[in-house]
Amino acid sequence: MAKHQFQTEIGQLLKLMTHSLYSNKEIFIRELISNSSDALDKFNYLSLTDNKFKSGDWSGKVFMKLDKEDGSLTIGDNGLGMSEQDLMDNLGTIAKSGTKAFMENLTGDAKKDSNLIGQFGVGFYSVFMVADHVDVISKKAGEEQAYKFSTDGTGEYEVKPVTKEEHGTVIYIKLKEDEVEFLDKHRVQEVVKKYSNHIAYPIMMNFMEEETEGEGDDAVTKMVNKTEQANAATALWTLSKSELKKEDYVEFYKTIGHDTEEPLAYLHNKVEGASEFTTLFYIPKKAPMDMYRPDYTPGVKLYVKRVFITDDDKELLPSYLRFVKGIIDSEDLPLNVSRELLQENKILANIKQTSTKKILQAIKKLKGEDSVTFMAQYNRMMKEGVYTDHVNKDLLLDIVKYKSSTQDGLVNFEEYVSRGDSEKKEIYYITGAEEQVLRNSPLLEAYNKANIEVLIMDDEEVDSLVTPMIGTYKEWTLKDITAIDAPDSKTEEEKEEVAKEFKELTDKIKEVLGTEVKDVKISTRLTSSASCVLKDPNDPMAGMAQIFAQMGEAMPEAPLILEINPEHEMVKKLDALNDDTLFNDVAWILLDSAKISEGIQPKDKAAFASRIATLATKAL
Ligand code: ADP
Repeated sequence: MAKHQFQTEIGQLLKLMTHSLYSNKEIFIRELISNSSDALDKFNYLSLTDNKFKSGDWSGKVFMKLDKEDGSLTIGDNGLGMSEQDLMDNLGTIAKSGTKAFMENLTGDAKKDSNLIGQFGVGFYSVFMVADHVDVISKKAGEEQAYKFSTDGTGEYEVKPVTKEEHGTVIYIKLKEDEVEFLDKHRVQEVVKKYSNHIAYPIMMNFMEEETEGEGDDAVTKMVNKTEQANAATALWTLSKSELKKEDYVEFYKTIGHDTEEPLAYLHNKVEGASEFTTLFYIPKKAPMDMYRPDYTPGVKLYVKRVFITDDDKELLPSYLRFVKGIIDSEDLPLNVSRELLQENKILANIKQTSTKKILQAIKKLKGEDSVTFMAQYNRMMKEGVYTDHVNKDLLLDIVKYKSSTQDGLVNFEEYVSRGDSEKKEIYYITGAEEQVLRNSPLLEAYNKANIEVLIMDDEEVDSLVTPMIGTYKEWTLKDITAIDAPDSKTEEEKEEVAKEFKELTDKIKEVLGTEVKDVKISTRLTSSASCVLKDPNDPMAGMAQIFAQMGEAMPEAPLILEINPEHEMVKKLDALNDDTLFNDVAWILLDSAKISEGIQPKDKAAFASRIATLATKAL
């Protein structure tokens, strides 16, 4: 008899399941039934496509046995089953990175943590919230020998050969003493209905029940063995919308989404015509934990005429919709469609395109609190969409939202445009890493003064890449305020006049700062600040951020234009100054402090600090 050690992480996981996660224990039933349903789906596929398994009289089921006397609950299926190696790989080691991610994401809050169980593919182990001992007896379809995997949830497990007639898996759970609720027929039935009512296979529940025969003095009570179907067993998405209530959709979501919360939204569509298919999509309230991991699990399952094909295809929806959960069931794809060739399949490409549009339209319709929740979780994904999905760019531009210099909360382009100058048709924005830095930027002063709204784009990593390539929104041009002239009321002549008046000063500052600046100019955009820095709109590097990002490189820093405020005391006094050392220090401070206001580091921080110290000493 072979004894094995669980992989370290599994050992930790088991400890956690046994000792720490005790809220919402009932979900182990959901997880085990969901595993059975997957195994049944896999065998169903084989039975229809592989001659070796085409027997014709197979019908998939899940069975449960509640044994009060023994204190055990058994959950089984006649699905694909597992070989000896499968048992060890799937249950004894971390087959996927999910387990590790699960451990990393634990918060210590038992309730929150138990919500994570299904999401990370560690569902099987949830059985240890209620079990003292577990036997997994399994026979893989097409193999002769069955095996039993046993463990009491500590560091070790055992695998040995056993006999078993039919292929499939039976999980025998010896319940902990105080878990008697899971032996109660009504309680278990309630859990099955709640989470697994609409899995496509019948769940047959076997239990003993008291039955009284005869009446009065002749009445005899005996225990009778009964079997009842505990679920509806209709693939939910095949029912018509009019037959379904919100609760039905929510229940089904909880099973397929392994979530305890309701979804934010769902959409169920039957498409008929040249191509026939049904889709049922859900948007979770919380973004899946693995959304930003390269090995995320896709949330959409592909079926062909109710037969499960794959849940591991990342191309069923565009990658920026990878948070969507649900089902695509096609009537036209061949059953034995090669999984490798799915990407190139025209029917599937059409389904993908239609589904994407429908999902985006549903997102666009979200209102109030729902829209706020959506934006908090998925705004970034939508921006990723703007960047990658040119076909749906317009729809996506109606969805993405930004902070604003004049409004609270988030605004979209449509709202901006409704308030903007419809003659000019320009949308102003500024990007950077910190909201506060952007809001305090000297570059904003002129816009604030003129009461012109500027979008504050503080998700720099994404915005600095995505926004420049938007170009226009419905004939309105997007303008980066750091690269254009500010709005002001001065005429060109007036401007030239001031520039002339201060030419000596600007030339002198330029000489001091040398190659650190591209130019020094008199500003018309500043009100309270003494100076600001700008990108040069004519710089060939401007707008190249995307190209550098695609090459995986940071954009080289181009020299900036320094603008100084002729109305500011500091500038006026500098103009009249007759002390070269002091002039030098102040010129550098004008540049460095302007950079700091934009969140850019001064080139020589120590020199900046020492200049400030010198000036402060002088002032004192
Ligand atoms: P997940 O189901 O998310 O992959 P689990 O921890 O629940 O994670 O299960 C691990 C793996 O064990 C499954 O992916 C599957 O390969 C296998 N497995 C679990 N239960 C069954 C079952 N009833 N029949 C066949 N294989 C199963």
